[in-house]
Parts: sequence; C-alpha cells; structure tokens
Amino acid sequence: MTRTPAFPPQGPPLIDGFGRTVTYLRLSVTDRCDLRCTYCMAEHMTFLPKAQVLTLEELDRIASAFVALGVRKLRLTGGEPLVRKGVMELVESLSRHLATGDLSELTLTTNGTRLAEFADRLAGAGVKRINVSLDTLRPDLFRALTRGGDLAKVLAGIDAAQAAGLKVKINAVALKDDNASELPGLIAWAHGRGLDATLIETMPMGEVEADRTDQFLSLKDVRRELEGFWTLEDIPLNTGGPARYVRVAETGGRLGFITPLTHNFCEACNRVRLTCTGTLHTCLGQEDSADLRAVLRAGASDADLIEAIRLAVDAKPKGHDFRIARAAGPAVARHMSTTGG
Ligand code: SAM
Ligand code: SF4
Repeated sequence: MTRTPAFPPQGPPLIDGFGRTVTYLRLSVTDRCDLRCTYCMAEHMTFLPKAQVLTLEELDRIASAFVALGVRKLRLTGGEPLVRKGVMELVESLSRHLATGDLSELTLTTNGTRLAEFADRLAGAGVKRINVSLDTLRPDLFRALTRGGDLAKVLAGIDAAQAAGLKVKINAVALKDDNASELPGLIAWAHGRGLDATLIETMPMGEVEADRTDQFLSLKDVRRELEGFWTLEDIPLNTGGPARYVRVAETGGRLGFITPLTHNFCEACNRVRLTCTGTLHTCLGQEDSADLRAVLRAGASDADLIEAIRLAVDAKPKGHDFRIARAAGPAVARHMSTTGG
C-alpha cells in the first residue's frame, strides 16, 4: 500500500455536543471472519462486495485524520482483522503515528486464530497489547460456539503473542446456556497465565439465529456467583469505556465487566467507530452515522474530511438505548461484525 502523508495537527480536539472529548477510534478493517460465533453472525452471512470496503489507503487516511484531530488510541477490529489481506501493511503504516508520539496506543481485537503467524510482526510494529476473544477452553464447545473453529489454533496464537512480548487480555461473552459454568475456570486460567480477563454481556445487534433472551446472562448474577468463592476488590480503572474492573484477591488478576445493558456508561464515552465501509458511528447503540467513504470518494481534500469528521462528532448522541425484549427485534440492525464491537 502507498502511505498517505501524515496530517498536520488540526486545531482544537474533537469535542462532541455534550462536551465529551473523543480520543479513541475503533476501526473495523473487514466484515469477514474465519469463525461464525453464534451470538455475532448468522450461519450464512452475506459479506460485502470488495468495492464497498475501504481500501487500506482509505483506512489509513481516515485513521490518520482522526489522529490529527487528537485521537490517541486506535483499535483495529472487524470481522476478524487478521484475515484482511494486507492488514500488517496497514498496522505498520499506522505505527508511524506511534513513532511521532501523536498516537499513544495501536492495538487490535482478534479471535486469535492467526496470531501465531502475526504476533512477531505486530510486536515489531509497536503494538503492545491485544484483546483475544475466547469464550471457552473446551474444544467441543468452542467448535459449536464458533461453528467450526479450532481451539488449538487460538491457544497457539496466545502462546505466540505472549512469547512476542504482547500483553493479552481475554474477552469472553457470557452466555447463559453455553459457558456460564465455565467462566470461573476461564478466568482462573487467564489469571494463571498473567492475563487480564473481561466478561461481556451479549448485546442485541443484528439478526442471528439464536434467541438472545435465552442467551442473555446478567453479569450482576455472574459477579454474585464469583463472590461466593472469590474476593473481588473494586479498582478505579476508568478507560472511558463500559468496563468496570476488580482484582480477584485469590488469583491476583484483573477482571473486567462490560455491562452495556445494565449499566449506563455513556456519560464518559470517549470513542467512535468506523465500519469497514467508511461509515462513522458515534454511538454503538444508535443508528446515527456519517458516510466518510462517500466524502473520500467524492475527492475530498484533507480539510473536507476533517470537516466531515467534526460535524459527525458534534452530533454524537447522548447515549444508547439497548433493551432485550422478547417482542423487540435487535436494537440496532447491523451486526457486531460490521462495527467491530
Ligand atoms: N473477530 C474479532 C474477535 O472476535 O475478537 C473482533 C471482532 S468481534 C465482533 C469483537 C468482540 O465483539 C468480540 O469479543 C466478540 O465476542 C464480541 N461480540 C460479538 N457479537 C456480540 C454481541 N452480540 N454481544 C456482545 N459481544 C459481542
Ligand atoms: Fe468472527 Fe469475532 Fe464475530 Fe466471532 S465475534 S464471528 S470471531 S467477528
């Protein structure tokens, strides 16, 4: 890929209409994935035609515009970011913003299946921490939940990431009928390897076959159960996101709870999301969006692009409105794999 020149800093930081400063961009680099997690995707997904997906150069240009506007943290996601062809070129290109100090963190969220291949290059590009999504340590359940995935590949990927010096956080979606009984074991395993762990409540995004009211497991209940045998000490780690953290006294490890449905985290929200088609979503739970691909492909100058971003951020909604009700459809029609979570 050809690199776009760095934008010079672009005036005042990105502040939305409610006074929140946007410092974090999640960038979905593909809607494709080598797994089909039941809560995330339908079994037979129709993926986007290539022409609709931003090129690596377009992704780089938009991300660099956000950096020029004061974004300090970039997270690549998807779909599965490591299945995007040329993704390492993008990572290596974006790492120039780490070198200048304009960006403080470049990271990604991955399912881990291709980490063994890419861990060294990621570390070489200045990536320090990654999130690996892993809901179970049982090969049979992993295969069922991901519709065909191979747990051994993910575990080998985590080994490779740790060997490369990357800090790994394990993210697990809490699912009532599937992995509820396994969560303490998964957390203990992660902490035993020196990894932080975070539990996520399922969110009603996109139509999938499974009934979300059946899958939904409140993290309040999980926390209560864990407190039956562990001491959970609150730690004031505010990431500006929906996670609340505790330290498990017995394991010494950190545990996060992401509860978008039972806890309102919007007042401190510092993030926006770009889909792989260039749609900027300023709120995960609302349909508001701005089409930055159209802006780019109409031949926008850097100033036009910056203006489009400022306008979209100015209109960032105050908060989301997720509800899991049997009668209601998904709160938001797009799948998590298009916005990247
Ligand atoms: N493929 C990568 C992965 O799995 O880590 C990155 C994209 S994935 C969409 C990002 C995160 O969203 C994963 O941790 C996944 O478990 C989570 N996720 C997907 N669908 C979800 C849903 N409906 N509710 C809550 N979390 C979800
Ligand atoms: Fe793929 Fe990640 Fe969605 Fe699973 S959660 S289907 S790994 S994008």
